[in-house]
Amino acid sequence: MAEIIDGREIARKLDEKTGAEVKAMLDAGQRRPGLAVILVGEDPASQVYVSRKIKACERVGIESSEYRLPADTGQDELLALIGRLNDDANVHGILCQVPLPPQIDTRLVLLAIDPAKDVDGFHPMNAGLLFTGSEGLVACTPSGVIHLLKSVVPDPTGMDALVIGRSNIVGKPVAMLLLNEGCTVTIAHSKTRNLPEIARRSDIIVAASGIAEMVKGGWVKPGAVLLDVGITRVRGENGKDRLVGDIAFDEVQHAGAVTPVPGGVGPMTIACLLANTVRAAKALDRGKARAPAA
Ligand code: NAP
Repeated sequence: MAEIIDGREIARKLDEKTGAEVKAMLDAGQRRPGLAVILVGEDPASQVYVSRKIKACERVGIESSEYRLPADTGQDELLALIGRLNDDANVHGILCQVPLPPQIDTRLVLLAIDPAKDVDGFHPMNAGLLFTGSEGLVACTPSGVIHLLKSVVPDPTGMDALVIGRSNIVGKPVAMLLLNEGCTVTIAHSKTRNLPEIARRSDIIVAASGIAEMVKGGWVKPGAVLLDVGITRVRGENGKDRLVGDIAFDEVQHAGAVTPVPGGVGPMTIACLLANTVRAAKALDRGKARAPAA
């Protein structure tokens, strides 16, 4: 039987650590970490994600501020808001929920966020720091994946890792993190040939294609560690919707360990966002301490 990696429990422990760090900062007389969350429009899924993030902030003692803007908000107006938040000393993290409405250029918005406050880790500066193996703010879902991996394999050095998916927000950063951990990494995508064969020789598989249950039991080598990022809503035989991942969970009991969907990678994303906010707050505070007196 494969070990089930309990993402909820691991996220809870990370939240506990983040909460303790917030308390230590306050005890040391530092400012309470602050996260600004921007939501443009009324996309129902985005509204749910934003509410969850705000609630999570409360749990660990991060001050959250919410900016809900109408769907017809202009790009300049959004960029002006980001400029104000960049300058606001009470804000240590800025998150602009995507997708954005079509009149707004998402790349420009992500570029406008101060990299020091880019708690989503999507700014090219942070992506570049990750690429060069330096300390920056790392994207939350990829960071959560590595956390889960290390809960079962503390040192994955030398292992063969396959990442299915090459998006800028999941596949590429996960691959870079695995490389930085000393893994030998293969990145697969829609044009990859012989994917089942590559999968069968992998010690670690991170599945982030968004294709429901594409990784079959026959693709998985006994003892492999499987990390399932995908979330797809499918209609069950009873006519009710259910969430499934990219891995055919019921077929991979010969794996060493596997993350469930839901309850695997998902909960880690928000926990890593909170951890990033505290990290940003500490770094900004240190920067202030080093800055020459005016
Ligand atoms: P995305 O931007 O759509 O990227 C999907 C990737 O999968 C692409 O690189 C694509 O290849 C590749 N792909 C598609 N079909 C494939 C195939 N048959 N074989 C191999 N690779 C294939 O998606 P994403 O934003 O990275 O998200 C991936 C999944 O993770 C989605 O289900 C999303 O909902 C989920 N997600 C979950 C969380 C979480 O917190 N749990 C966070 C983010 C995303 P090409 O580049 O060649 O098109």
